[in-house]
Amino acid sequence: DNIIQLKDLHYHYPDGTHALKGITITIPKGQVTALLGGNGAGKSTLFQHLNGILKPSSGEVFFDGQPVDYSRKGLLNLRQAVGMVFQDPDNQLFSASVYQDVSYGVLNLQLPKDEAQRRVEHALERTGISHLRNKPTHALSFGQKKRAAIAGVLAMEPQVLVLDEPTAGLDPKGISEIMQLLLETQKGMDLTILIATHDIDIVPLYCDRVFVMDEGEVVLEGTCGEVFAKR
Ligand code: ADP
Ligand code: ADP
Repeated sequence: DNIIQLKDLHYHYPDGTHALKGITITIPKGQVTALLGGNGAGKSTLFQHLNGILKPSSGEVFFDGQPVDYSRKGLLNLRQAVGMVFQDPDNQLFSASVYQDVSYGVLNLQLPKDEAQRRVEHALERTGISHLRNKPTHALSFGQKKRAAIAGVLAMEPQVLVLDEPTAGLDPKGISEIMQLLLETQKGMDLTILIATHDIDIVPLYCDRVFVMDEGEVVLEGTCGEVFAKR
């Protein structure tokens, strides 16, 4: 089963930069897929198409078999289904306490209060930061901030979790902790995970499939076994 499909996706920025040049890929449900590529390869441009921040110049994006609906309501639904964790947690955290930060998105979903609280508790536990709930977010370590940013997205209970460079800025212990946490979450919450990274070391260890991007094109794809056997 595929959760996301891109068909011959092209994207031109307003200044004319041709950032995506005919991307055709399918992302299988319930796996961890890596998008590997150097700076400028087009990873973040591609990711911004997955929750409708960017609209293709040409080509199509499908979510769960349906073409993305770019109406206001369609985009609200898509953004709940596809959760984004940015590279720099400071862009995602701005409340007075960890609890408030992790609650921020879920409180906008107009859920019954006890359901919202249940989700926040669950996300805090999953990411191992329950004990930090009353701390001001700015007082957290970088790794703790990353966890708080992930928790806030998990509390929305997305179907797909998209992470931009989740291991950037972490030491080896922090990297393995965050990747283990993501793998356990993928299984525990039946998520599809998509990771943009230039950290080739994490890919065979933690990912099922990989797409390698270069200059706006997918130049290699397959299971980690296939792709890394070719190197
Ligand atoms: P990556 O995430 O792999 O580093 P990006 O998607 O950020 O790559 O960039 C892909 C290409 O698009 C690069 O050539 C980059 O310079 C260009 N680009 C990114 N953002 C913009 C923008 N806002 N305006 C014009 N060009 C951009
Ligand atoms: P209020 O809306 O009553 O001013 P808050 O915005 O501080 O209160 O919190 C709203 C709800 O979120 C509270 O009723 C409480 O159940 C929950 N809450 C807030 N902070 C925490 C916390 N640190 N731990 C657990 N639950 C909390």
